Amino acid sequence: MEKPNIHKLKQEMCEIGRRIYAKGFAAGNDGNISFRLGENEVLCTPTMVCKGFMSPDYICTVDMEGKQLSGNRKRTSEVLLHLAIMKERPEIKSVVHCHPPHATAFAVAREPIPQCVLPEVEVFLGDVPITKYETPGGQKFADTILPFVKKTNVIILANHGTVSFGETVEKAYWWTEILDAYCRILMLSKQLGRVSYFSEGETRELLDLKSKWGYADARLAPGMENCDICANDVFRDSWQASGIERKAFDPPPSMARKSGSASNAGVGSSSGSSAGPDAETLIQTITDRVLAALSQR
Ligand SMILES: [Zn+2]
Repeated sequence: MEKPNIHKLKQEMCEIGRRIYAKGFAAGNDGNISFRLGENEVLCTPTMVCKGFMSPDYICTVDMEGKQLSGNRKRTSEVLLHLAIMKERPEIKSVVHCHPPHATAFAVAREPIPQCVLPEVEVFLGDVPITKYETPGGQKFADTILPFVKKTNVIILANHGTVSFGETVEKAYWWTEILDAYCRILMLSKQLGRVSYFSEGETRELLDLKSKWGYADARLAPGMENCDICANDVFRDSWQASGIERKAFDPPPSMARKSGSASNAGVGSSSGSSAGPDAETLIQTITDRVLAALSQR
């Protein structure tokens, strides 16, 4: 195997640090970046340093348990989060954690990221999970990503920020930038008053493109054949435990239709999922309509 050019990797980490800071994704000394050099050696950014102004000599080295091996500065306290991801996904080389404001707003509202709105987002991101909240720094916090890490390349950390990962530092960062831009567009279009969703057919076309281009998507995995692809079905089972609830954004139209028919015909023709989520959506739809009617008085 080719030996990695460590100086070049450190330069790349500094460059991504500059982008994170310039984008406003890491206030003060927030955010951290890592790169896996080998079996038991990981480069990571130091604590208490602004990520916008690092030079390669700032970068530390740790082992896979987080013990510092070299570097003049103390390693980030969040390194266990990075290592938890690298342990679960050996092909992952780099992890980027920061606090991009728009994605973090969804983390604070505990609002799931609506799907079936923008083509690129469907292709690149798919369903984005939100973890259960834990105090940052320890192993318990790092372990909050475990239920999701094998099904996605970007995770929202409840009341905290985001973490994304890939085969290079730049790719690890991409998902964060794409996610935050998407969250921003969602918030802006909601302010304009309407968010239009793709139909299920339009989304299936995008997913076909995605698999043609060789990108994996949990919605195409075995067992998900009958899922409602616009309904955040991949990670929806985790919502209750994490306090995630759809409040700000309407459910996608396919779900609203399904609930409608279920109320008329008793049991809906259904997509193979249990009655639970449909019933929940029905209650949500009724609640929304009652509230809308009340507000019109
Ligand atoms: Zn953080």
